[in-house]
Parts: sequence; structure tokens; C-alpha cells
Amino acid sequence: MSLPYIVGNWKMNGLRASLAEARAIDRAAARYPKVELALAPPATLISRMRDVVQTIDLGGQDCHVEESGAFTGDISAAILKDAGAEFVIVGHSERRSTYRESDETVCAKAQAALDAGLSVIVCVGETEAQRDAGDAEAVVTAQVAGSVPQGDDVAPRLTLAYEPVWAIGTGRVPSLDDVEAMHRAIRETLLKVCGDAGSNVRILYGGSVKPENAAELLGADEVGGALVGGASLTAESVIGIVEAISPAGSE
Ligand code: PEP
Repeated sequence: MSLPYIVGNWKMNGLRASLAEARAIDRAAARYPKVELALAPPATLISRMRDVVQTIDLGGQDCHVEESGAFTGDISAAILKDAGAEFVIVGHSERRSTYRESDETVCAKAQAALDAGLSVIVCVGETEAQRDAGDAEAVVTAQVAGSVPQGDDVAPRLTLAYEPVWAIGTGRVPSLDDVEAMHRAIRETLLKVCGDAGSNVRILYGGSVKPENAAELLGADEVGGALVGGASLTAESVIGIVEAISPAGSE
């Protein structure tokens, strides 16, 4: 069984001064060998961060579908890799809503990441209105089916992140029953999309994870880790999350 994977998404936060937090998170990673830690800082910090961390993975928060070209302001998976990234997040709900990214676009971005030699974290999640209407599982499983590229070599470099849109940055989290039901539905869809290899794809939970709720959420069935926004910005809260799920020195 793979280790819990905790991925910090710094979003549009982080200046050079923040490298000290990354260094502290990296040092902590060495003390918690039963957890895998990763950060997705702003793209401008990846290269500098690569120079000061040793244990944690680094990734981008989005990539273009093309490898290079006349796309002002965009960044490609190849450029992220060149800067020192190992993975890229695609389909975050803030991209899906603000930039109207469709499942087709997210799938093309995921394929571009794989083609560039990166791993990919594909995000899915329902809105509050969709959950209230009883459509959450249908919406999320359709996003998985439409956003995950086909192919035998996809599953080993794929991570899914289930992030209910209404739980991101709000302090609200779904019930454990709802988290487990959704993760099971995602697993079933992954088995259809990726075949047997879908059983090994990690499914992260994301949405208001913090030290106080991490042990409970990450103890849920089929939850293989967490995608963490606000609580990933300081080493103190990242260490709090890691300590909650795998106390230092525990067997
Ligand atoms: C996120 O944006 O991916 C996220 C989970 O944010 P937060 O942890 O702040 O809810």
C-alpha cells in the first residue's frame, strides 16, 4: 500500500521569502518517512525551491496543452519540468470555474503533462448546488471519466484529487460517509477508465484540510492523502497535518 500523499497547493501565494517555509517543510519530511510530501508553489518559485529542498516533490498548478508556442502568459509542462517540477495539478476547480476549463481541456492538459514526463494530479469535485440536487456522484464520476487520459501508461503517474468546490477555503468538510462514498465511486470509475491499474491510483481528499481534521479525513476508506490549500502555506500547519496522521516515531 502506498504512503499517504500530502500535497500543498500554494495557489497565487509565495515570494522568495517563502522559501524558508519550503525548507522547513522539507526538513520535516525527513522526520516523517511514512508520509510523502509535495508542494505546488507559484511557477516562479519552482526552480529556486528545487535548489533548497531534497525530500519533497515539487509541482506546477496548471499547464498548457501545447509544449511551446505563442501563448502569452501560459506555461507548458515541459517548462515546468525544466524548472524542476515532478508533477502538475490540472483541473483545479478554480481553473474549471474561472477559466471555464472543460473535462476535455483538463484531459488534454493531463496528457500534455504525461507526455512531458511529469506525473499529474487531476482534480474533480461538485458544487454545492450539484450536491444539494443529489447529483454529486454523477457529476464527479463524469469528470473523472472525461478528464483522465486513456492509455496503459497513465495509471502509474496519475493521482486523483476529490475536492468538493463548496469545501475549498470555507472551513466546511463533507461527512466521512460522503467522503468514503465519493472515493469509492471514483475508484469504480478509475477501474473502468484505467483497467486493473486503476486500483493503485491514489485518491486524495481536498477541501479545508487542517491539523484538527486531518487524522479523521485521512483515516477514511479509499483516502490516499490530501490536497491542501490554505493550511499548506506554513511549515507549522503542514507539520501539524503530518503529525496528526503519522506521529513522529510511531511504528
Ligand atoms: C485547494 O484549493 O485545493 C484546497 C483544498 O484549498 P483549502 O485547503 O484552502 O480548502
